[in-house]
Amino acid sequence: MIGTSAGGVEALTKLAQALPHDFAAPVVVVLHIGAEVPSLLPQILARAGPLPAQEARDGERLRPGTIYTAVPDHHVLVEEDKTLHVVKGPRENRHRPAIDPLFRSAALAFRSRCIGVVLTGTLDDGTAGMLTVKKAGGVTIVQDPADAVYPSMPQNVLDYVKVDFRLPLADIAAKLVQCIKVPCTTTGRFPDLEMLDMEKKIVALDPATLQKDDRPGQPSPYSCPDCGGVLWEIEDGDGDHDYVRYRCRVGHAFSPETMRRAESGAGGGALERDEDARGERAPLRPPRGGAAETRPRLAGEALRGARARRPRARRGDPPLPDGGGAAGSAEVRPRRRRMRVTSAYAYIIGA
Ligand SMILES: [Zn+2]
Repeated sequence: MIGTSAGGVEALTKLAQALPHDFAAPVVVVLHIGAEVPSLLPQILARAGPLPAQEARDGERLRPGTIYTAVPDHHVLVEEDKTLHVVKGPRENRHRPAIDPLFRSAALAFRSRCIGVVLTGTLDDGTAGMLTVKKAGGVTIVQDPADAVYPSMPQNVLDYVKVDFRLPLADIAAKLVQCIKVPCTTTGRFPDLEMLDMEKKIVALDPATLQKDDRPGQPSPYSCPDCGGVLWEIEDGDGDHDYVRYRCRVGHAFSPETMRRAESGAGGGALERDEDARGERAPLRPPRGGAAETRPRLAGEALRGARARRPRARRGDPPLPDGGGAAGSAEVRPRRRRMRVTSAYAYIIGA
């Protein structure tokens, strides 16, 4: 499973060139792409290397040695019977297709045989997915940020996941071949298969799941930047790193960095910078139970309390062609909190 964003076409082209004709596993690719433009990626990748490439088709069984690319404006999931599910589910990290739902579904389907790869890109789609692949005992490979045109997406993975291999792009194809021949299985632990399955069903628009009141995580006092609904807070760290992400009842999902960006886009960024400059930060989690907590808060209010400025050692991403590069606005990161593990399904709406 490969996820990438800005700079991804070139990186995927080079990777496709380097894969051998007898590559013995299916390759499923999510490249962040606009909804309106038909993707030419299958043709580009098929021309670049020896493997056939095509857009993912709903219900199609995965074949070894074939590259499947996500369809614009649709998520691509892998079912446990190794078929593809192409669905227009809720956006994750403001993307559709998004990397996280593919990786989660593939981890569930392939467990220790899943290989997750994150290449060049901006922000942090893919980090939660790589955490899941790792927890399933799968193999995690990240492009060395120093080798990536846009380093922040691979760097975010490195910040939160103890990846198995950090490699320059030129070495990734050979590592994939090696890991398929001799499984590079790591220690697997799947603490919450139920939660994983529920998240997959939410993305897949499963009617029975959507009608239930249960949601993974616990309700937060904050509201979804996309739809205004209540956000559930999902603590998803690997035991060594805390990692908190959010999902609303509709299913919109937000990783930490994407939440910050969404909040900045909503006009909260200036206030956030002012607060940081003055050293004024609200507590992370306001007291619960008070009258003030009956109203979901804007996501930005939550995040202003959750972040702490820290030096950014990484090289900044260059600006995107549309001027929306990650450099500049991604200077603040959440404080890594040591938190208890919360149980899923502990809360019922309205209870
Ligand atoms: Zn929402």
